Amino acid sequence: MSAAAPWRLFLAVWPAPEIAMALNAWARTAQVECGGRVTLAANIHLTLAFLGDISPERVPRLADCVRRADGSGHVLALEEARYWKHSRVVWAGPREIPPALAAVAGALERELVLAGFTTEAREFNAHVTLLRMARLPRLLPSLPSLPWQVDEIVLVRSQLSSTGSSYAVLERFPLA
Ligand code: ATP
Ligand code: MG
Repeated sequence: MSAAAPWRLFLAVWPAPEIAMALNAWARTAQVECGGRVTLAANIHLTLAFLGDISPERVPRLADCVRRADGSGHVLALEEARYWKHSRVVWAGPREIPPALAAVAGALERELVLAGFTTEAREFNAHVTLLRMARLPRLLPSLPSLPWQVDEIVLVRSQLSSTGSSYAVLERFPLA
């Protein structure tokens, strides 16, 4: 019998619907300036660790890792909107990464590596992608003040298609 086809997995924090809708509305305003494709409200997230292709049989071990990673709930303020020229993406992020967010990303990374999972070697860069395939904006509108309460980590499966990725939350892990 052949092994099951791998799943494309990542760990993320997901905003409450009202935060996602406000970010999506902001992205539509920014789109007037720089074009591009707006991230659907339901797809807005911040990736903590990207795992890539993982055999579904390893998901229970992966979930154990996430449960072992210490982390506490906190507020994430998205204060800055930026453009990445290399990926043509407009994103929002905190002015400074909240220590609790950096700590949870670090704890996840440690537990994942200890359990033999390979994660992206790049340094954690807290960002929320709001527009793709955008032109360089002259000026981005200012972001509304959004109190994003981070109280859980989600394990997500991404399925790529020609119309963009679709995400399915496989499991939720509350933060203390
Ligand atoms: P699309 O690829 O359709 O633009 P996407 O990038 O959101 O959408 P995925 O490529 O499945 O979809 O990525 C899921 C999440 O993991 C995204 O937040 C993405 O930024 C992040 N990600 C993808 N590849 C990597 C990588 N090599 N290193 C770190 N993070 C990654
Ligand atoms: Mg991608």
